[in-house]
Amino acid sequence: MKLAGRVAKVKPSETLAITAKANALRAEGRDVIGFGAGEPDFDTPDHIKQAAIKAIEAGFTKYTPVGGTDELKDAIIQKLAVDNHLEYKRSQIVVSCGAKHTLYNLAQVLIEEGDEVIVPAPYWVSYPDIVVLAGGTPVIVNTSEKEGFKMQPRQLKAAITTRTKALVLNGPSNPTGAGYSPDDLKALAVVLADTDIFIISDDIYEKILYTNYPFANMAMVDERLKDRTIVVNGVSKAYAMTGWRIGYAAGPQEIIGAMVKIQGQSTSNPTSIAQKASVAALNGDQSVVEMMVREFKKRRDYIVEALNDIQGISCLMPEGAFYVFPNVSSIYGSSFAGRKIATSTDFIEYLLDEANVATVPGAAFGNDQHIRLSYATSMKNIEEGVKRMKNAVAKLF
Ligand SMILES: *Cc1c(COP(=O)(O)O)cnc(C)c1O
Repeated sequence: MKLAGRVAKVKPSETLAITAKANALRAEGRDVIGFGAGEPDFDTPDHIKQAAIKAIEAGFTKYTPVGGTDELKDAIIQKLAVDNHLEYKRSQIVVSCGAKHTLYNLAQVLIEEGDEVIVPAPYWVSYPDIVVLAGGTPVIVNTSEKEGFKMQPRQLKAAITTRTKALVLNGPSNPTGAGYSPDDLKALAVVLADTDIFIISDDIYEKILYTNYPFANMAMVDERLKDRTIVVNGVSKAYAMTGWRIGYAAGPQEIIGAMVKIQGQSTSNPTSIAQKASVAALNGDQSVVEMMVREFKKRRDYIVEALNDIQGISCLMPEGAFYVFPNVSSIYGSSFAGRKIATSTDFIEYLLDEANVATVPGAAFGNDQHIRLSYATSMKNIEEGVKRMKNAVAKLF
């Protein structure tokens, strides 16, 4: 069978492959502890569920406007005004089926053959493939662990060519947890000011931030860049709503209008019921978010210390999100029972087979020296999982 060429250009998601393998082992009866999940382990808060149930009962079950209801757009506008001090009109907001879909639509309207998109690594697995599917070329900029996995102005400058169309920024980051402070962003803004590069700001972990500095994005720190910044956000991570599939973008009217046009010929509106639930999430009690963030912070503090206590592993303190990205490269070259560990994939397979612990190889995020663990799981699992890792790693030395 001959499929379209674009299929071969895209990699299947490695994170989903690991999850599938861990699930298969569990089905065989193995007691696997999962650090693979890219979603909060909390249940969606009750008032949000109730809003959806009410929507169903009220018959709010038909098509809505393609780019989202005015009610949800207004809730998003309000959120962006209060949290981010950014002003938008309804025509500058589009609601999609998750932030991933938002990013996909955005790539479809901005990127074409020959365009380059700067993607700092370690990156979220989907950025390069979303760019490739739009016909563009991802230009990967390797950030350094020493610099906290934050792209430096000199690195950005070096990556820019006449073909650079856009830059993806994601802070707090999946997979490293690194955030960009207002000052970090201002320093990058200096480089961007006299270019015409679009800034795609993936703010999905905005609320899951443990720093003294407040959250910021490029539109917030530099007035000159606001008209070139597309803010992408959603309810998945902050409100434990990954299955509801609601994400959104705010930006220049022309870009947003084009995204609505593309969406109108693909998915049409995001689910009506999920839109009602998202209004409740954004307008409702925010203490549910604070509760989750407090719990994540406790787990972060524990897991970072516990991982650093393992010989051969060193782990930076993440500033946000719910991932740690420890450096495991000093384990490379070691072996156990004739099994040699030379890459992040070798190591995570070893951990899965030898310790019944599922993690994700850094290679999936563009950095083979590290692995990713999600601490969106219970403290009990974290304690037991890290203990198992310690025992398994000890066999390698
Ligand atoms: C989870 C995630 C998204 C997508 O979230 P949706 O569930 O599609 O809204 C986007 N970016 C990053 C970095 C993520 O981790």
